[in-house]
Amino acid sequence: MLETMNEYYDNYFKFNGKSKIIRIENNKLYFDKTIFYAESGGQESDLGLVKLNDVELNISNVQYEKENGLWKTAHYVETEEDLNQYFQVNDEINLVLNTDRRNNLSAYHTASHLLFIAAEKVRNGIQKSVIGCHIKEDSARFDFITDLKFTEDELNIIANHVNSMISNQLNIRTFLKNEATNERVWECDGFEIPCGGTHLTNTGFLEPLKVKRKGIGKGKERLICISSQDNIIHGELGAHIT
Ligand SMILES: [Zn+2]
Repeated sequence: MLETMNEYYDNYFKFNGKSKIIRIENNKLYFDKTIFYAESGGQESDLGLVKLNDVELNISNVQYEKENGLWKTAHYVETEEDLNQYFQVNDEINLVLNTDRRNNLSAYHTASHLLFIAAEKVRNGIQKSVIGCHIKEDSARFDFITDLKFTEDELNIIANHVNSMISNQLNIRTFLKNEATNERVWECDGFEIPCGGTHLTNTGFLEPLKVKRKGIGKGKERLICISSQDNIIHGELGAHIT
């Protein structure tokens, strides 16, 4: 169960929000609800600001903390000072996201699912051998257990498949699949992937991607996707990503 309601589930493009402080612990703030994404599922956390009257402080990290079955969302505030001099429990504060970072993370998270689908096209069953993924502002990657290096041909097929899904401008839907377990699903072109991350709403908002491999130790392979352009979000279409 989540202590703090995640507002991004309903809207990935809500970049400002009011929240109420429910607890202050050292340099951490806890709210009744939040627009911030806490690091999970390989996706790095959002960054941004917490504001109250004249006070404006950076949120430098957001992490889940599990305690007796309850998931708490800790917002780390960048300050050497005692937070109690700025804030009190029940204060209504403003949260402001770093929007470029959120959009880039949503874009690379979306890209990672296309990479995951495309990898299965060339290696039947590879999806079951995933041992990790990392979604950053400038790339996304998956690590697999496999003795076989990805070949140039395979990488080309994967990239072509990813880029055809992008040029086909496919709609993306995310929804709560199971209320009891809070299982959320990403759905696109008939593929369903369990996921609670943030995403774009159409594959066409992505720039074409390059796909690379890297050996990361015996019996392990990494697939990395990065934009073929300066940005991951498509220049013209990107203005309409909401
Ligand atoms: Zn996802």
